[in-house]
Amino acid sequence: MTQQITHAGLDEAVKQSPRKWVYLFTEGNAKMRDLLGGKGAGVAEMTNAGLPVPPGFTITTEACNAYYDSGKQFPTGLWEQALAALKVVEQQTGKGFGDKKNPLLVSVRSGAKFSMPGMMDTVLNLGINDETVQGLVALTGDERFAYDAYRRFIQMFSKIVLDTDPRDFEEVLDKYKEKAGVKTDAEIPAADLKKLVGEFKQIAERQSGEPFPTDVYQQLHKAIEAVFSSWNNKRAIDYRNFNKISHDLGTGVNVQSMVFGNMGNNSGTGVAFTRDPSTGEKQLYGEYLLNAQGEDVVAGIRTPSKISRLAQDLPEVYQQFQQIAQRLETHYRDMQDLEFTVEKGHLYMLQTRSAKRNAGAAVKVAVDMVEEGLISKEEAVKRVDPTQVYQLLLPRFDDAEKERAKKAGRLLAKGLNASPGAAYGKAIFDADKAEQLGKAGTPVVLVRPETSPDDVHGMLVAKGILTARGGATSHAAVVARGLGLPCVAGCEGIRVSEAEHLFRVVGSDLVIKEGDDISIDGATGEVFAGIIKTVEADFDKEVDLKKLLSWADGFRKLGVWANADYPRDAKRAVTFGAEGIGLCRTEHMFMEQERLPIVQKMILAKTKEERQAALDQLLPFQRSDFKGIFSSMVDPKTGEGYPVVIRLIDPPLHEFLPSYEELLVDVTRLETQGGHEKELAEKREMLEAVGSMREMNPMLGLRGCRLGLLFPEINVMQTRAILEAAAELAKEGKKLQPKIMIPLVGHVNELKEVRRQLEAVAKEIAGESGGSIEYKFGTMIELPRAALTAGQIAPVAEFFSFGTNDLTQTTFGFSRDDAEGKFLLKYVDGLEVPGSKDKVKILPVNPFQTLDRDGVGQLVQMAVENGRKANPKLELGICGEHGGDPDSIEFCHIIGLDYVSCSPFRVPVARLAAAQAALSRGEKDK
Ligand code: PEP
Ligand code: MG
Repeated sequence: MTQQITHAGLDEAVKQSPRKWVYLFTEGNAKMRDLLGGKGAGVAEMTNAGLPVPPGFTITTEACNAYYDSGKQFPTGLWEQALAALKVVEQQTGKGFGDKKNPLLVSVRSGAKFSMPGMMDTVLNLGINDETVQGLVALTGDERFAYDAYRRFIQMFSKIVLDTDPRDFEEVLDKYKEKAGVKTDAEIPAADLKKLVGEFKQIAERQSGEPFPTDVYQQLHKAIEAVFSSWNNKRAIDYRNFNKISHDLGTGVNVQSMVFGNMGNNSGTGVAFTRDPSTGEKQLYGEYLLNAQGEDVVAGIRTPSKISRLAQDLPEVYQQFQQIAQRLETHYRDMQDLEFTVEKGHLYMLQTRSAKRNAGAAVKVAVDMVEEGLISKEEAVKRVDPTQVYQLLLPRFDDAEKERAKKAGRLLAKGLNASPGAAYGKAIFDADKAEQLGKAGTPVVLVRPETSPDDVHGMLVAKGILTARGGATSHAAVVARGLGLPCVAGCEGIRVSEAEHLFRVVGSDLVIKEGDDISIDGATGEVFAGIIKTVEADFDKEVDLKKLLSWADGFRKLGVWANADYPRDAKRAVTFGAEGIGLCRTEHMFMEQERLPIVQKMILAKTKEERQAALDQLLPFQRSDFKGIFSSMVDPKTGEGYPVVIRLIDPPLHEFLPSYEELLVDVTRLETQGGHEKELAEKREMLEAVGSMREMNPMLGLRGCRLGLLFPEINVMQTRAILEAAAELAKEGKKLQPKIMIPLVGHVNELKEVRRQLEAVAKEIAGESGGSIEYKFGTMIELPRAALTAGQIAPVAEFFSFGTNDLTQTTFGFSRDDAEGKFLLKYVDGLEVPGSKDKVKILPVNPFQTLDRDGVGQLVQMAVENGRKANPKLELGICGEHGGDPDSIEFCHIIGLDYVSCSPFRVPVARLAAAQAALSRGEKDK
């Protein structure tokens, strides 16, 4: 059949066109993902590796972009090339498109560079009309099959291409099932299917206002256009926004000869992963349905069988499939996600792509593949997404609480453990409502009979997903794993009523209504009524993760430190691999219950003596706090201490005092009540004091180093506490590295004066303890003026730590709390434009999460360069929240910081991100 295949027609069509828009599968390869999309490149590579792939061709992503550029017109030559390529496919299959006797049917599928599962459109069985269906009947001898293929085509084409309401078709289908007294579509008799086809065409015509296209070329033209258009449907756009996929890549269109999985019980269709995408275990994982077409598996309408059962159903096919799966994994050196169809005992491969996997599987597969000799350590480190590492450290259900819930009869049902993690939230039954509540901060578990791409916006904000139908590769499961959300799928023990907004528990009279709390465990598939508290993951047991991170440590240049205020956090940070504390905020030490009254006395003191008395009371507390932090940062074996940066008091003083408004209410109440003279006098005094300290804009007022300049006794007390704690520990043989950091410096003179104060204290303590304590003195750079004058500040400091939280606020002129609550998220999401569907995005990302390289980043870079010039020994780090964000970490690597400091849970993320930054920069420099 394959002899003398000629491409001459296609070559000629290409010659007549400005560009080659169409590639036969035999012309492409895996490296052409940009041009052919992932699916097109994948089938081309499989075709050329000699695997059984139904012949076809791919229309390029460039053609899709050209289609949009020209106001939704096919670019010149595209149609001619597609027709010529179709002629080649006719030769390859020995069938004719539109041929009455031996018809070629094709699928028309989307396929972008990055996989966007289920987000765009596909049409199957294209090429059927009233004439070719007869050919299909004659060829297969199976009238039922032929008319079933026909009705499926009309149904799909109408939904995707003609944009009609699919419910009308479902209703008619149900009517026929009822009439025939059968339960499934597959049981509808042939004679009824024929009538159904006629009715379907009428529905399509009624809804679309034009006759259903009988010309197969017109069908193809329209289907290609529909796939191009699906690149910009709402769910595809939402998905790209969420996954940070660029909107200008375009989709490829794959036109492929059909093979049929619904030609009896030696036919079937399925999807499988070369390893388990939930655990990373090395074994085929997937499912299939006998006598079914592809969409039946993906849609999750029938519950499929596990792939291992295929060994019994079709043993030869299973063996061949196993071999192909192994071959593809070795070829791509990565775990694959495969789609296949068996037509009358013949296996066909329809797709291979790098498999989506959850965090645990990503880490295990990367580490296993290094140990299997398939990939290098460098590749393993590059392959795992740092945010997946974060997910691995996500909370799980508290065992005891879960046990209690079980004993109390709160375990409602068990479904498939489709995506791990534990979540609780309000049960919500439609995606729009879930989106609305989720965005408002209410934890939500989205409960659906099954999900479809139309539910994605709700899934994006949900804490977890629960579906009653569908397997481990159903839409809900695949999307949830991609998002790192817990998901329980195919939970047959519940019956979801969309209309009533509730689910019933099978075999009991329990009902969960909208808004009731439920908890789901994606690792076990359990569904509970009520809330079950979650606990943190055990890092020590994450053997593979620890291995991967130790490899990452070998590649990174940046140090990774942690922001920790308590010994408990500091210890956890060290367990996670932190090499120092980059920010210990001291204000919390003032907030604790027994200390707050003393702090208030200190603030409200009328004389220096009163203030000093309060500070003298605070000193022992502070000293023991610092001892706690320092001790947790000393290696018990060597006595060597990690660096610990302690920041002196920063917040405006009103944060330590009662609120003015509340005091005013109290005073007024006491005044009207009468009596309570003593309390009233106290409250009045406090009200007056708080009133005198009120500021219009406290975040830009008396805070940071300004406090220590006006009340030097506070700085003196804190410095004394730090150095005395260090001196006491030094006597125990512990080698400490205290670093004292001054916040919110804007002018070098501020820093000079604070330094003078501190040095005086250090001298005093050295005299008292008979030996000097080593410490370093540095400042935060968190105001634009400090960044701009870094060259003047650097000679007075031994280190800079970039406080990019405040630096972002002050550079943008945004108050974070006000901005995020009022307009910032709209800036990122896009502002509505009257009369347009499109939104205008003001900012690409939230600059408080990802460092704004163009603005804030420029200030940081300038301060690094000028600071180092003025003081070559200057140590440079970052302690704003950006220190735990992978994109910002890359920037820190590029501008040559010494370390990043982030919250303890982000430390593993930062280790990996820092290694990836070093590796990708290494590549660019080569
Ligand atoms: C900063 O401003 O980046 C910082 C770390 O300080 P804080 O968040 O405590 O103001
Ligand atoms: Mg700050």
